[in-house]
Amino acid sequence: MADKRPSWDEYFMGIAFQVATRSTCDRAHVGAVIVRERRILTTGYNGSPRGLPHCDDVGHLMVDGHCVRTLHAEQNAIIQAAYHGISVKGGTIYVTHQPCLTCAKMIINAGLVRVVYAGEYPDPYSTQFLLEAGVTLQHFPWPPEGKETPPVPVPPETAPAPRRSLFSYPLEEGAWVRLLRYEDAEAVARTVNQNRTHLRRWLAWVDGSRTVEDSRKFIASALQAMADDRGITLAIWVEGELAGLADLRIILRDNRGEIGYWLAEKFQGRGLITRTVSLLLDYGFSEKRLHRIAIVAATGNARSRAIPERLGFHHDGTLRGYSKLYDRYLDMEVYSVLRDEWVTPAQRR
Ligand SMILES: [Zn+2]
Ligand SMILES: [Zn+2]
Repeated sequence: MADKRPSWDEYFMGIAFQVATRSTCDRAHVGAVIVRERRILTTGYNGSPRGLPHCDDVGHLMVDGHCVRTLHAEQNAIIQAAYHGISVKGGTIYVTHQPCLTCAKMIINAGLVRVVYAGEYPDPYSTQFLLEAGVTLQHFPWPPEGKETPPVPVPPETAPAPRRSLFSYPLEEGAWVRLLRYEDAEAVARTVNQNRTHLRRWLAWVDGSRTVEDSRKFIASALQAMADDRGITLAIWVEGELAGLADLRIILRDNRGEIGYWLAEKFQGRGLITRTVSLLLDYGFSEKRLHRIAIVAATGNARSRAIPERLGFHHDGTLRGYSKLYDRYLDMEVYSVLRDEWVTPAQRR
């Protein structure tokens, strides 16, 4: 009996879709439901301000390819709370689409701590702003197709603390690591182009990354992966220059992660990657509660292999002919560290 009941997320998302049917702009039927402590506070759908004509009656009001006649569903849900004098602080908003940047900013300042969205409305800046503000962003495909949703821990319903400790962290004098941002595309493209020969020695993606637009696509997918809890990508900055990237990809099913990295040639030998990987290990084990984190490095790439060796990883073995690099296959070395083996920041104190 009990397992036939919808989960809370399914229940509230279903209501958001019901709310969306009231939208008055057929360019986007969007619904939103704000919930706290499993109780609905307010709802909203895409619609004109009160007393003004609807798109359905007088047509859209198009500016730059968007209909600007309506308030968005999220905005109407937040405004409804103001209208009735209800605080939504600490609440969750269920939306049938991913919020746009304006809605994301309103969600952050309204004190909402979690966004559950169904459809895709890819806006990299919206994703980025919510991530940096510490708002949990969770994709909930609709209809749920009867499959179990991954058990994402629901954060405590308190005002979010921006995760600055990870997203902006000093490595050494003049060197910083922080969350990769959409506006970094030009810097990424520049560094890749300046280091093409150096990076191409061991990395297969380099030939496919040439323009700023290529970098934008890559960053948008990295941000989406972060929002979907499939990983995190950090940018390493040295005196205003993007020096390299490091990422932790999460395989939720196995509760494990894999770290990758690259660095511009002129910044090698300063320990920047070692310290960044160490931060990713802290994040993966402490915050994401992963069981295992691996690094896979080409057998011939001594510099890359030195990172896990220096950090005390276990050498699991060699994967023969595992990775394709242009016209040849590379042997790869697998290194891993288990949660019990890693000394977390809390234990270091
Ligand atoms: Zn319209
Ligand atoms: Zn919006």
